[in-house]
Amino acid sequence: MAFEVHYDCQRCTACCRWPGQVKIGEPEIQAMSALLGLETWAFIQQYTRLRPQRDGLALLDKPNGECIFLEGRDCRVQDAKPVQCQGFPNTWNFPGWRSVCEAVPRLKKGEAPRLEGGA
Ligand code: SF4
Repeated sequence: MAFEVHYDCQRCTACCRWPGQVKIGEPEIQAMSALLGLETWAFIQQYTRLRPQRDGLALLDKPNGECIFLEGRDCRVQDAKPVQCQGFPNTWNFPGWRSVCEAVPRLKKGEAPRLEGGA
């Protein structure tokens, strides 16, 4: 049985800014397309790229490296975000993620996240 980390996300968005790939499959493309009111082919053209291994698609990055769907501290496709994002840090993480995430001030219930240097 795999060890699963239970982590209370503070919405620091570090994982949305970290270099790497947000891998997506057909169900995720359909869900995000529907959320944005786009045909799937239009979504693919506008928001995806071929992975370097040419074995599927990933979300585009902005020129600054953050995910194409990150808007300030919000995910534009929050209600249909990819499995990789939903399951962080278990489905995907980055070296040192724990120390990055633990450096984020804890939020009180209902409090909006506020970080120095953020958007
Ligand atoms: S899809 Fe949303 S949650 Fe996933 S990396 Fe992009 S902005 Fe972050």
